[in-house]
Amino acid sequence: AQLDTLDLIVLVVLALATVAYFTKGTYWGVQQDPYASSFANGNGAKAGKSRDIIEKMEESDKNCVVFYGSQTGTAEDYASRLSKEGYQRFGLRTMVADLEDYDFENLDKFPEDKLAIFVLATYGEGEPTDNAVEFYEFINGEDPSFSEAEGDTPLKNLKYVAFGLGNNTYEHYNSMVRNVNKALEKLGATRIGEAGEGDDGAGTMEEDFLAWKEPMWSALSEKLGLEEREAVYEAVFDVQEKADIDANADHVYLGEPNKNHLEGQSKGPYGANNPYIAPISESKELFKAKDRNCLHMEIDIAGSNLSYTTGDHVAIWPTNSGKEVDRFLSIIDLDVDRRHTVIAVKALDPTAKVPFPSPTTYEAVVRYHMEICAPVSRQFVAALAQFAPNDDVKAEVTKLGEDKDYFNAQVSKLHLNIAQLLEILSKGEKWTKVPFSFFIEGIHKIQPRYYSISSSSLVQKDKISITAVVESSSAPNAPHVLKGVTTNYLLALKEKQHGVENPEVNGLNYAITGPRNKYDGIHVPVHVRHSNFKLPSDPSKPIIMVGPGTGVAPFRGFVQERAALAKKGEKVGKTLLFFGCRKKAEDFMYEDEWKQYAADLGDSFEMHTAFSRDGPEKVYVQHKIKAVAKEINELLQQKAYFYVCGDAAVMAREVNQLLGKIISEQRGIPEQKGEDAVKAMRASNQYQEDVW
Ligand code: FAD
Repeated sequence: AQLDTLDLIVLVVLALATVAYFTKGTYWGVQQDPYASSFANGNGAKAGKSRDIIEKMEESDKNCVVFYGSQTGTAEDYASRLSKEGYQRFGLRTMVADLEDYDFENLDKFPEDKLAIFVLATYGEGEPTDNAVEFYEFINGEDPSFSEAEGDTPLKNLKYVAFGLGNNTYEHYNSMVRNVNKALEKLGATRIGEAGEGDDGAGTMEEDFLAWKEPMWSALSEKLGLEEREAVYEAVFDVQEKADIDANADHVYLGEPNKNHLEGQSKGPYGANNPYIAPISESKELFKAKDRNCLHMEIDIAGSNLSYTTGDHVAIWPTNSGKEVDRFLSIIDLDVDRRHTVIAVKALDPTAKVPFPSPTTYEAVVRYHMEICAPVSRQFVAALAQFAPNDDVKAEVTKLGEDKDYFNAQVSKLHLNIAQLLEILSKGEKWTKVPFSFFIEGIHKIQPRYYSISSSSLVQKDKISITAVVESSSAPNAPHVLKGVTTNYLLALKEKQHGVENPEVNGLNYAITGPRNKYDGIHVPVHVRHSNFKLPSDPSKPIIMVGPGTGVAPFRGFVQERAALAKKGEKVGKTLLFFGCRKKAEDFMYEDEWKQYAADLGDSFEMHTAFSRDGPEKVYVQHKIKAVAKEINELLQQKAYFYVCGDAAVMAREVNQLLGKIISEQRGIPEQKGEDAVKAMRASNQYQEDVW
């Protein structure tokens, strides 16, 4: 039977309605604004996106994917640099991919003519970064279940390149890239070039990366027959100024982290992509010395649905200081007239992500989303040469880009940030030729900073406390004093809470009330990160804690918890704390509180203090530990838990070695056996570290 016109109309309408229902209106223009970045949706929601990397590469015509496993943004930055370089210099059709966004069951079908690059940071005790956990577990699984794999070499078609970011002060140095590399090789994949390793502990990460990548590109060109071409800059993002839109229009992001926040109904679940704007209920300075001060803050999480357990970390989302925001906008000539101009930012490549919500303003991007104060990379400077304001500056920038030692002396050692460097190089002449996209591509997303929670969730489940030293340091001959981004912001919040109207701390001021005054009344954006740094579930077990300086933070929480349990009449085991600072009268944190905890805990509490600048000899916690070696060994034999928190570079390593020595001496066994005993303690969680 033939359909008449009415039937046809009904069918078409029905079909369209069905499409509309299943696509939730995306074909109808509801979410069609290409400048409204997916970033805005918050909550990490990536609804409807394919998790099939091969499909994604096919549909976007890519032949090289750069995966990253990143915690603090550095690996992500390296991934995007490799991606850009691969395209610009070698014509690879590259894309960057967050490991978390894809499944890997079909990695065995990865086409032979494509390439995967893995940039993998190792986190903490040899762990994968949060976004790489699933990938890591899958690839290291007993038997990764690939979709169609047969035989022992399911990944025989996969060609890959690998670089790891690690820290040699940790025992499991670069274990992420090492283990992934091993797993991939075992599964039959072919690595091209060496697997690179960067060392943050030695402070050589950037140079390790730069030194690794040239031979890697050579190996790659040879293997894949790539021709190097003259690299030309192509913007990744289209940035359009919208003169007709007022910056105060409701849909313009002025620093709000995502759509919920913009619409004024920030809602949970809160996490790494969606902070809770928490009230600070109390703030004070624990000490204030000539060149340092230390903050204690209570962050109220009541009603937020956020929760924590003693030993967890809280992440604080910082805001750049007005001074550095002004400096940055001024030197690239976006100050006065243009800083509040509304901009719409769109990725020109379908696989690139705009790292902040759009539309927004230049100022909001620089203040809330870019890590403008961080160390500057030599590769970034090298690429800046093409946009220098004049030939003299260009020559100097080129030299900095090419000469590692010169760069180190002129930039790294002086702790310059990008705007300070630009100012010095051009002697204040504006850098008008740099496309804004270049900065979006080259400057990290601002990162939340972690703090070891210094309260007990048992004692105060709705209040998270932090203990933070305000960072301020000057390098020899440096033209500027380096001010920690987050800690100075927190100090300003504390000042404001204590009645200072427009606080200026260490010469810095902050947009304390946040975008559209949403943080007014002393609020700070936070989320909680759960950690494995935990008290034994049985409080009668003995514990030994080593926490000099701010390393004492989590132990205040531990002791607070055990004191509360003791007060309730529970049996609490030996609670031994080693604390160290410079001078008893200067920076002895929580001095009065320890007395109260000692009263509550009675004999089970024992605190050993080391003051490094009070006497003729420098005394450190290590000395104090040694002095009670016998007791420590006995407690360990009673299965005491041993905790270390604070400085990773020196203290934690020395304490680790010392403990091995103590065990060997006290038990009369060879030193190697002492070290092995510490290793075994680590493996069984009897030895735990929270270090940074
Ligand atoms: P940033 O601006 O991040 O600067 C920090 C350092 O980076 C500077 O001191 C400098 O060495 C370097 N740097 C920055 N910019 C430059 C530049 N342009 N050139 C050269 N070098 C530069 N801290 C605490 O005080 N208490 C805690 O309980 C605590 N717990 C932590 C727990 C974990 C798991 C981790 C990872 C860290 C912890 N930290 C803690 C450290 C904290 O996260 C921050 O790193 C610290 O407060 C400094 O942050 P900031 O933003 O003020 O400084």
